[in-house]
Amino acid sequence: MASSENKACSIVDHYGPDLEPFEDHYRDFHQNPELGTQEERTSAIAASHLQEAGYEVITHIGGFGVVGVLKNGHGPTVLLRADMDALPIREQTGLPYASTLEAVDTDGDRKPVMHACGHDSHVASMMGTSTLLAHAKGKWNGTLIILFQPDEEHGAGARAMLDDDLYDKIPKPDIVLGQHLTPDKAGVVLIRPGSFMAAADTIKVTVFGRGAHGAQPQDSIDPIVLAAHMIVRLQTVVSREIGPQDVASVTCAYIHGGKAHNVIPNEVEFMLNIRSFDAAVRESVLKAVKRIIRGEAIASGVTKEPEIESVLTFPPTHNDEEATLKLKESFLSYFGRDRTWEAPRHTASEDFSLLATELGVPSVFWNFGGVDHKKWREYERTKDKTLISSAHQADYAPVVQPTLKTAIEAMSLAALTFLK
Ligand SMILES: [Zn+2]
Ligand SMILES: [Zn+2]
Repeated sequence: MASSENKACSIVDHYGPDLEPFEDHYRDFHQNPELGTQEERTSAIAASHLQEAGYEVITHIGGFGVVGVLKNGHGPTVLLRADMDALPIREQTGLPYASTLEAVDTDGDRKPVMHACGHDSHVASMMGTSTLLAHAKGKWNGTLIILFQPDEEHGAGARAMLDDDLYDKIPKPDIVLGQHLTPDKAGVVLIRPGSFMAAADTIKVTVFGRGAHGAQPQDSIDPIVLAAHMIVRLQTVVSREIGPQDVASVTCAYIHGGKAHNVIPNEVEFMLNIRSFDAAVRESVLKAVKRIIRGEAIASGVTKEPEIESVLTFPPTHNDEEATLKLKESFLSYFGRDRTWEAPRHTASEDFSLLATELGVPSVFWNFGGVDHKKWREYERTKDKTLISSAHQADYAPVVQPTLKTAIEAMSLAALTFLK
């Protein structure tokens, strides 16, 4: 155990804040979730907390993005990020602080709203971290940036903050750090160097044919038959073009065409969700997808080329090797081997890393668990995955503690690992 790690550990131990106010904030955020781009209430609470804790605060960056800056002498600049938005899911946890809210989403539809991804725990624990590090100001040097990001679930919030000149408004960080709640044992942190989460691309395809009477298919260029061929052939991208050593997925989970049983429509629209870990693999998947769509359209004799539109892009999340190993050492010193686990590589995606790649600086992302210990023991005994609900599920109900305490400690420890 190196002495700097010892020091970071003892600071976290000594300056750990009273947890009750942050537990209250957590339950409050959980009960009052806000969809991406609508985080007005959450961001206002986070901003006033930072102000009270002595940070210079800037609000309304890229929507409801909030940043607090604490300049504390010469040393590295470290950025800590938490996302704030919730999901359009009707909550079925039965918790006393469950959400019953609904809101109009960016697509104009009224939807139920739930914190089913744990972003409520990210905000509450980041508030706790900001308090701990402000109290411990006499023990570190550098510049600390606390960033509350909007609109992660739509994959747009980090980009929106960057496009709103984030890095002209605040000091440029030397490293960017973030964490995410996962359905793992509460009190545990999970970390791995290198590839951590997948890149995601959502593509909208509009196929143009020629409509006709259902009884006279010879007059049509049937876009439904054409789209069907495209979707079947797209199954060969991963199975025939990507080597078995690489990982990718191509899913069509949305297809719309036609309004009547006897009318061949003019067009069909479908969407593809593509996941990959490696930039070169991602490129070849995207190229193959476009080639197949164009090729099948030509085979059908269309007179108008299909439209291929990128709807959403998440970058891959890649943990800097050196910084991750350094942070893992801190985690091992503080939490011990029992509570510091090797993280799996996730096929889910995040826009977190944009905050680092924009500047070409390293970033580290890790997980902290939220599953009740009794439930976890039962899961370990039976290996029955249905015992544990997962992020984006209506019954996802992390336990408040030791989840929040661990998140505050992990984030504070991470900041202190890279500050002076
Ligand atoms: Zn999510
Ligand atoms: Zn999330």
